[in-house]
Order: sequence, then C-alpha cells, then structure tokens
Amino acid sequence: MNEFEEPSVWAEAFAEQRLELLLFGLFAALVLVGFFRKSEKLKYATLMASVAYLGLYKSQLISIVNVFGLLTWNLPIVQYSLGWYFFAIFTVATTILFGRLYCGRVCAFGAMTQLMDRVLPARLRITVPRTIERRASYIKYGILAAVVGYFLVTRDIRVYRYVEPFWMFTFQETTALWIALGVLLVATVFVRNLYCRFLCPVGAFLGLLSNLTVFRIKRWSECSTCRICEKACEWGAIRGPKIIAAECVRCDDCERLYEDTKKCPHWLIIIRKADIMARRSVAPTAAGSPAGLTTRALHSSQ
Ligand code: SF4
Ligand code: SF4
Repeated sequence: MNEFEEPSVWAEAFAEQRLELLLFGLFAALVLVGFFRKSEKLKYATLMASVAYLGLYKSQLISIVNVFGLLTWNLPIVQYSLGWYFFAIFTVATTILFGRLYCGRVCAFGAMTQLMDRVLPARLRITVPRTIERRASYIKYGILAAVVGYFLVTRDIRVYRYVEPFWMFTFQETTALWIALGVLLVATVFVRNLYCRFLCPVGAFLGLLSNLTVFRIKRWSECSTCRICEKACEWGAIRGPKIIAAECVRCDDCERLYEDTKKCPHWLIIIRKADIMARRSVAPTAAGSPAGLTTRALHSSQ
C-alpha cells in the first residue's frame, strides 16, 4: 500500500460501513441525551433500543472475549471493524468519564433484565440483605480473575459461554446452556439484576475501570444521615455517605432524587429554613413574602 492509495482505502472502509456507523451514532446519541437529561422515559427507550439494536439486530455486546483480546493485543483490523471500534471506544470513554454507563443502558443483556424488572410484579422480588449483597458483589471479580487466568494458561476463548449469557442473542448453543440461562432468568425474577450485580465478569472489568471515573455523582452533606437514596439504589452501590463507583451503573435514580425538592432532605431543610425566616420577617412585602423568600433561597442554593 503506498501513500496515494491509503486515503481511498479508508474512504472505502467508511463508505462500506456507513450504515453501521450511522446506526451506532444514533444509538450513542440516544444514550447520552437520556443520560444528560436524567430522563426516565429516554432511559427506558434506550434500554428497548439496546435489546432491539445491539442484542437482536447486531448481537454485539462487550464480552470477556474482548478482554482476552485486549490482554493479548489480539484486536480486530481497524478498517474492517470501524463500528466495533466506535462501540468499544464509546464504552471505555464513557466508563472513564462517568462510570458504568455501559451497564446502565447500553448492554443488551443488562437492558433486557432491567426491562424484565420493570414489567414483573414487585411483590415477587426478594430483598437481599445488605451484608450478603456486599459479599456477593465480589463474586464477579473472582469469576473475572478465574476466567482470565484460565485463558492465559490455555488460550481457550470458548470458556466465555460458561460465564456470560450474551450468546443468547445469536440463538446458538447447547440445550444444557439454554437450561442454565433459563434458571438464571427465573432467578432474576426474584433477585433483580442478579447476573449484573453478582456474576458478570465484564461488569467486574468495567467496575475496576470505573474507579478512574472523572465526573462522579455529587452527594449532599445530608446524605451521611439520610438513607433514602441508599434504599432506592437497585444496584447496592450506595453505602452510607459513599457511592461505590465500581457498583454504580449511573442509572440516574439517586440523581433524580437529589433534585426532588419534595423528597430530598437537602431541599426540605432549605425550604423549611426559608419559611422560618419569612415568618420572622417584620413587614413582609410581595417580593419578601414567604413564598418569594422560599423560592429565592432555593434558587440561590442551586
Ligand atoms: S454487568 Fe454484564 S450483563 Fe450486566 S449490564 Fe454490565 S456487561 Fe451487561
Ligand atoms: S441509584 Fe445512584 S448510586 Fe445507585 S446505581 Fe443508580 S446512579 Fe448509581
């Protein structure tokens, strides 16, 4: 290949893969718009798009096989796999910038189990005690270490079938593995996000990476005593005043609560103080009326 041919090879590669790149660009835009707007509706639209597009249409998920490829630097040829590189770079970049956004709304399997959770009756769910939940969250790191160790010794990539169920979107595999997947999905009816929270080696890998997260979720000083978000987090990622970056999938649930002036004690305290000050004022005017003061105090603290 000489210097005159190179641009046309790349132009050809982009032209051939333009539909794939366009679809992924649209999907990535949906992910990011829903995330930045903290919109629950857009999040569920993203989850459905993930199952339909990444799961059923493309069968493309980040897999432990990609981790093997990274460790041995055995990666696809760039010009033939532009879509895959955009997908992988998007996953790594969003994880480093924001945390496990991939697990929260991109991974088709995680999206499917979150949608299951949404439609199944809440009364079926078992609440895992916190101490068991914390200990169980380390299982996935053990699986990651074991499967990477096994691969480095044997170079057998087919081990992925036993530790991740992503092959389900290709509708292949043996009856025994389909039965195991059925058991896992039934268990997920009772324990929400079971595989993602406790078993997934890819989630563990991204969890380790997310310790580098640049833009973390803010906490109010009141978070150290208030436990509303801790109870609301379906991923066991809030422990007292802390958010455990490796467990958090940036689902937005706690962030929506932070902004809720009717539920979050941070705002309730500010509003209460403003009301007391307003009542104490000697000669309230239209601008200094309790309602006016409350609104101004709320806005000045935002
Ligand atoms: S934990 Fe695993 S299965 Fe769950 S969303 Fe993340 S990568 Fe997907
Ligand atoms: S509720 Fe908050 S801490 Fe828990 S997973 Fe969602 S964004 Fe992360």
